[in-house]
Amino acid sequence: MIVIGAGLAGLAAARDLAAQGVKVTVLEARNRIGGRIWTSNDWPGLPMDLGASWIHGTKGNPLTKLADAIGAKRLATSYDSSMALDATGKAVDLARAYAMAENMIAAARKKVEARDADQSLEAALVVSSAWQKAGEDDRRLIRHVLNGSVEAEYGGASSEVSAWFFDASKDFGGGDVFFPGGFAQIVAHLARGLAIRTSAPVAAIAPEGTGVAVSLRGGEILRAGHALVTVPLGVLKKGDIAFGRPLATSRQRAIETIGMGLLNKCWLRFDRVAWPADVDWIEWVGPKPGYWSQWVSLARVTGAPVLLAFHAADAARSLEPLSDAHMANEAHRALQSMFGSDFPAPNAVQVTRWAQDPFTHGAYSFNAVGTTPATRKALSGFDWDGRLSFAGEACDGSYFGTAHGALLSGQTAAQAVLAL
Ligand SMILES: Cc1cc2nc3c(=O)[nH]c(=O)nc-3n(C[C@H](O)[C@H](O)[C@H](O)COP(=O)(O)OP(=O)(O)OC[C@H]3O[C@@H](n4cnc5c(N)ncnc54)[C@H](O)[C@@H]3O)c2cc1C
Repeated sequence: MIVIGAGLAGLAAARDLAAQGVKVTVLEARNRIGGRIWTSNDWPGLPMDLGASWIHGTKGNPLTKLADAIGAKRLATSYDSSMALDATGKAVDLARAYAMAENMIAAARKKVEARDADQSLEAALVVSSAWQKAGEDDRRLIRHVLNGSVEAEYGGASSEVSAWFFDASKDFGGGDVFFPGGFAQIVAHLARGLAIRTSAPVAAIAPEGTGVAVSLRGGEILRAGHALVTVPLGVLKKGDIAFGRPLATSRQRAIETIGMGLLNKCWLRFDRVAWPADVDWIEWVGPKPGYWSQWVSLARVTGAPVLLAFHAADAARSLEPLSDAHMANEAHRALQSMFGSDFPAPNAVQVTRWAQDPFTHGAYSFNAVGTTPATRKALSGFDWDGRLSFAGEACDGSYFGTAHGALLSGQTAAQAVLAL
C-alpha cells in the first residue's frame, strides 16, 4: 500500500493502516513531512507556524486527543480580546459593522437561494438594495467584514465563493488554541514508526495488473495493490500527477469545481511590545480593505513581542511577489498609521507564499460557485475499481479547509481501505 503525501491526512491514514498490520510506504515530495503543518525554528525560542496554527474548536476535536496524548502545551486566543482601528488610528465600532454586514449577507443569500442558480457572494451582495443604499464608509466596513469573516476564513475571494454553500461546514465548539511549541509536534507524533520517503515527488500513477504503478519524478517505479492520494487539491488541479487512466467523471469535475484558496502569514518580531498588550486580535479598517486588515498579537498569551498579519485571496495573491524586506516595510507603514509614527520597525520577518508553493498551489480549498456538498463527496473515496483512493482536507465535506478535516479524512480513508 502506498500513501502519497505526508501531511495530516496521509500520516493519519498510514498510521491507522499500519496499526492493522498493513505494509504502508508514504511518499512525500518535500524534504520534510507535515505539508501545510510547518513549524519554523528560525527564531530561537520562538517556533512560528507557517501553515496551520490553531486547533479550531477544541471540544470533541480529534486533534485535542492527539495533543493530550503527547502532553503538548496549548494556549487560547480569544476574539473577545480584540480591538479595531480606522485608517487614522481611531477606534472603530466593529460590532455595528459586523451586525450590518451579516444582515446584508443574510438578505442577499436569501434572494439567491430563492433562484435556481448559484452565484458568488459578491455578485449577490452588490445587487441587494441594502448595498445599493449604503454609503462609501459603510461599504468599506462591509468589505472589511467580508475579508475577515469570509475570505480569511475560507481562502476564496468573495467574488469566487458560492453564495449558497461558502460556509457549508461544521464547527467543533470550545474555542481556539494554538501550540506555543509548534503544530509540528502533532506531525512528529503521527509519523512515529512509519516508513516515510521524503524528497520523493510522485509524477504518475497508472493501473498495472490488479494494482498500481507509482512513478517518481526521478524515474523510479514503485508497485502496490492500492494507492491513497492525499496531495492538496491545488496539485490535482494543476495536473502535476499524471493519472494513467481517466478518473471518474464526477471526481474530475469536483477537482475543477472546488476552489483552491489562499491565506498567507507575515510574522513580525519586535524588540518590545509597542501595541496594546491586552488584545489578541487587531483589525485595521485601512485605506484598502483586505490589506494589513487582520492581525494577531502573541503579547497577551505568550508575552512575546510578535505580531502576525494575515492576507487572504486577492490581496494575498497580489502581495506574494514582494520581497520579505518590502513586506516588512509595508507592515511597518500600516502599524505607524494605526499606532503612531514612532511605532518601531520589526527586527525580523517571516513571510509565507503558499500560492507559489509547488506542492500545494494555494492554502486550502473553498466552496466556489458550483460546489455543493455532493461535490466533495465525489472527490473523496475510491476510483479505478478500488485500487486508488483520495483523502485530504478538500475531501472532508464537514470540516474542509482545516487541520482536523485533513486528519478525519485520512482516518476515514484508512477505514474504507481496511473494509475493502
Ligand atoms: C497559512 C495556513 C494557515 C492555516 N491555518 C489553519 C489553522 O489555524 N487551523 C486549521 O485547522 N487549519 C489551518 N490550515 C489548514 C490546514 O493546514 C490544512 O487543511 C491541513 O494541514 C491539510 O492537510 P492535508 O494532509 O490535507 O494536506 P497537506 O498537509 O498539504 O499534505 C499533502 C502532502 O502532499 C505532498 N505532495 C504534494 N505533491 C506531491 C507529489 N507530487 N508527490 C508526493 N507528495 C506530494 C505535499 O508536500 C504535502 O506534504 C491552514 C493552512 C494554511 C496554508
